Amino acid sequence: MSGPYRGRPKSRWPKKSREQKSVEDVIKELRQDTSSTVDYRERSLKIHGLICSKCGREFDEKTRHLLTVHHKDGNRQNNPPDGSNWENLCVYCHDDEHSRGRLGDYLKR
Ligand SMILES: [Zn+2]
Ligand SMILES: [Zn+2]
Repeated sequence: MSGPYRGRPKSRWPKKSREQKSVEDVIKELRQDTSSTVDYRERSLKIHGLICSKCGREFDEKTRHLLTVHHKDGNRQNNPPDGSNWENLCVYCHDDEHSRGRLGDYLKR
């Protein structure tokens, strides 16, 4: 124990640059995640229309956020461009659909 406060470099904090990098990374990840999610959702809404395929409730531009895309085979990675694996479900029907099995990643993400 000798001179604990001597010769300490205080000018630079390596933490700072680390924080900046991590924030940028987070933003990048968020953008990528959002764009891929929006992509198939928008396509499914275009193909199948703004209507719940289960209860038949119709939606418009103001309420479309209540309409979600369900994957028929349960695999969210399976997104054929013709929309054959997608089903437009309102949040209530979608919740109901998943409550039988696993209430899935949909609500978490
Ligand atoms: Zn519905
Ligand atoms: Zn679903």
